[in-house]
Amino acid sequence: MKPTLKSKPEAGRIIPNPPSALPAKSQAPQLKENPPCHLLVFGAHPDDIEFGCGGIAAQETHAGRPVHFVICSRGESGTNGTPAERTAEAEKAARLLGAMLEFIELDGDAHLEVRAAHAIKLAGIIRRTRPAIVLAPTLEQNQHPDHWRLGQLVRDAARLARYGGLAELTAQTSHAIGQLLFYAITSNAEPAGVQPVLIDVSTPAVMAAWTAAMEAHASQLKTRNYVELQLARARVNGSRCGTIAALALYPNDPLVFDSLASITRGARRF
Ligand SMILES: [Zn+2]
Repeated sequence: MKPTLKSKPEAGRIIPNPPSALPAKSQAPQLKENPPCHLLVFGAHPDDIEFGCGGIAAQETHAGRPVHFVICSRGESGTNGTPAERTAEAEKAARLLGAMLEFIELDGDAHLEVRAAHAIKLAGIIRRTRPAIVLAPTLEQNQHPDHWRLGQLVRDAARLARYGGLAELTAQTSHAIGQLLFYAITSNAEPAGVQPVLIDVSTPAVMAAWTAAMEAHASQLKTRNYVELQLARARVNGSRCGTIAALALYPNDPLVFDSLASITRGARRF
């Protein structure tokens, strides 16, 4: 299978989006066997990743760490934008962020159900891409139902990716990710009473790439300025920790550090 950016994407086809900021060796298209990616991000709809955690993806690719996006619908139930338009917007956004992009089909936009077959399918993607870190939408239910259902599926998939005896996946080597963290696409999706991990995304090049990637979803910006909304959320989080902009992530499990030396930077000024 040869990489192409022109034809209409099919489910499961991987679109290489080499970022200009990455070294040349990272720009080679790699389709059959993915190289281990540092960060694997799942989104239910074509714009979820960019609006929910695009700045973090930009930060990782600008540091030269491979990032892979998996989008689980074409946004066909949305009010604005056709599936083709939304696919093209996602492709453009992923290119701007320097991420690989892959569309898969589950139940379709607004029809996603939590079932074992889906979790196993996502586990197969985890085994193929072999990420250290996985991001998925939060599990809060006061948001688009596809979002929290996908979060549940990804959490299940992260477990199943590790289970050596799973009959459907015996062709792939099992894989244990390092961390699963959740991102909140809207403020309603932020888990109540949970302290987030704040990722400082203030670097101008990172902010510029993230902003451009959100603006790439032009069909979704007709009713409200969601770009400014997400930038405002990031600025608030930045103000919480004394920087320009930060994005919040919510770990599924305790984070583990080698020593206290890794956690000396805090949000509070005591
Ligand atoms: Zn969505």
